[in-house]
Amino acid sequence: MNKFFIAFLFSSFTVFAQQTDVVDFLNINATVTPMSAKKSIKGTVKCSFKILQKTDSIYLDAKNMKVINFALEGIVVKAGSEKIWLLNSFEAGRTYTAFFTYEAEPKQTLYFFGNEIWTQGQGKYTSHWLPSIDDVNDKIEFDLSIVSSDEKNVIANGKFLNVENKGSVKYWHFDMKEPMSSYLVAFAIGDFNKKELFSNSGTPIELYYKLSDSMKVEATYRYSKQIFDFLESEIGVPYPWQNYKQVPVRDFLYAGMENTTATFFSEAFMVDSTGFNDRNYINVNAHELAHQWFGDMVTEKGSEDHWLQEGFATYYALLTEKEIFGDDYYYWQLYQTAEQLKAASDEGKGESLLNPKASSLTFYQKGAWALHLLRERIGDEAFKTAIKNYLEKYKFKNVSTEDFLNEVKAVSAIDISDFEKDWLQQSAFQSEEAYQSLLKSTFIKKYFEVSALRATPLEDKKIQLKTALTFPNDFIGQEAVYQLVDEPISETLPLYKNAFESNNLYVRQAVALSLQTIPKELQKEYESLLSDKSYVTMETVLYQLWMQFPEKRVKYLNKTKGIEGFQNKNIRQLWLTLALITDGYENAEKENYLKELKNYTSTDYSFEIREKAFEYVNELQLWDLETLKNLAEACVHPTWRFSKPSKEMLNNLLQDKKYYEQVKVLGRQVSGKAANYLNSIIKE
Ligand SMILES: [Zn+2]
Repeated sequence: MNKFFIAFLFSSFTVFAQQTDVVDFLNINATVTPMSAKKSIKGTVKCSFKILQKTDSIYLDAKNMKVINFALEGIVVKAGSEKIWLLNSFEAGRTYTAFFTYEAEPKQTLYFFGNEIWTQGQGKYTSHWLPSIDDVNDKIEFDLSIVSSDEKNVIANGKFLNVENKGSVKYWHFDMKEPMSSYLVAFAIGDFNKKELFSNSGTPIELYYKLSDSMKVEATYRYSKQIFDFLESEIGVPYPWQNYKQVPVRDFLYAGMENTTATFFSEAFMVDSTGFNDRNYINVNAHELAHQWFGDMVTEKGSEDHWLQEGFATYYALLTEKEIFGDDYYYWQLYQTAEQLKAASDEGKGESLLNPKASSLTFYQKGAWALHLLRERIGDEAFKTAIKNYLEKYKFKNVSTEDFLNEVKAVSAIDISDFEKDWLQQSAFQSEEAYQSLLKSTFIKKYFEVSALRATPLEDKKIQLKTALTFPNDFIGQEAVYQLVDEPISETLPLYKNAFESNNLYVRQAVALSLQTIPKELQKEYESLLSDKSYVTMETVLYQLWMQFPEKRVKYLNKTKGIEGFQNKNIRQLWLTLALITDGYENAEKENYLKELKNYTSTDYSFEIREKAFEYVNELQLWDLETLKNLAEACVHPTWRFSKPSKEMLNNLLQDKKYYEQVKVLGRQVSGKAANYLNSIIKE
């Protein structure tokens, strides 16, 4: 045992409970080199910190890192399994600088997929790839340099300074001016192009995309400038950082992540103008941008304040959608989440907003509801002033729910103690108050009138349904269509005709999704759905038509040939499947189609594409050595949304002796991780 070991044992157990009382890390200047071959990273860290209380050891969080060099100002650097210790006789009031290099093979937080590399700090701990501070309460100015060996583009927090060529590698230098919590540090490397624009206030906005997605840039990023300008004026405090970037990455774990100045989001949101009608990026775009104020600039002190981030980002995203899509859309979203919150609450699963372990539904949706109602109660002006004061007072600091409420109380004489009790502390959802608020929308009132007809016999509501389907509102029209489902077709035919003739994309989609048997009388109208600008509609309709009118299969296939659909290639993969099983259809091409479909299960593709491909391969029982290997790899994919169904599928296949024998011998042909997994489930 050496003296340093004794020193850190002593100090970590007796001198301080919370490191933030002892030291304030000011700056971390890191140069990192991610290495794809081993999925590892090495780096150099220069960090400066101010000692607040005399001590002989402080630490940076660092998971399983090897420190391979040290010494500056007499500071000794030593790695443990969870931390890197900096040891010296530190004196209060002095600022020190430590310098060291490190290496790590991160188990999480840093991901390598195909030719992309990206990080995800929240919920995963940046300290897996970069020595930093897991506690959100120590905000640090991070200046990153990323070393990349090829022509790829690099994106990281802050302002891009320059690229330095050093031999065969490039150093990309970035600069942050303000401090942030460590979970918001990020970088991404990939074949990205970018489109640049400026907000009204002059902030540079960079919208990244892959070259192969060039045709999707306009639809995906539609309204981006408007969203930025709206939030800046609605929040009333200028955007706090030097610039803003948005980067779609493949195989992303979540919808989006608000890394400071550099939002990463799931590539699945890249859509063309048809896909835009079904799933657009607007909500996530606005949500992550709102976090740049709520979360990044003012950060929760602890998990009991988590709604100050998620509730606020959800609420401001909703306000943005109201600005773009109108009041009806706003109230419809509130109504949808009220239904979910009420259902959970009725089951006894309601949660207080201040519960540190609450679900996403609570933090996000109940949080948004709380802000919606608080604003109704104190009025627009007081609400906006409170938000502005709150953000300005705690700029680049950490906040608690009390800090926010104090700012509300400072600008409004209205008593909010009931609000605090009902919406923050109470676990049950206050559905009556929510319902009364929803009724302020005439659209919601009308919707309730139509949905109240669900139990009414068709004969007695035909006129109302016809009205709802003639020049319909999206949501009311859909409700009317769903009320036709269990009625005899002979009675509903004219109403279905109204629905088709409405030319409303979403009402027609409701027909596509709900009509299980297509009557001859509606065949022509139903076929016209195949041309609707919606990949959701097209996928269902192509399948239904192919099933129900075999004599026209070739015609349907020819009409949809070459259409890709969403990022997961939903139309293309369905098309390939149907083409393969349509007798006599393009026989000469069948082998290619088969190859293409099976190939979509491989790690060359994103998990969304693979997930669909596995479903079809399984449906048609096309399993062979390659696809089984791909399935084994899918079982160890970091995204549980993908690995879980893959494991279930593999498990089912193993019930079949034929597949069991094939999977048993795969071990040597898959990655180490997949081989370990196979070992754990194959029982002799
Ligand atoms: Zn969020």
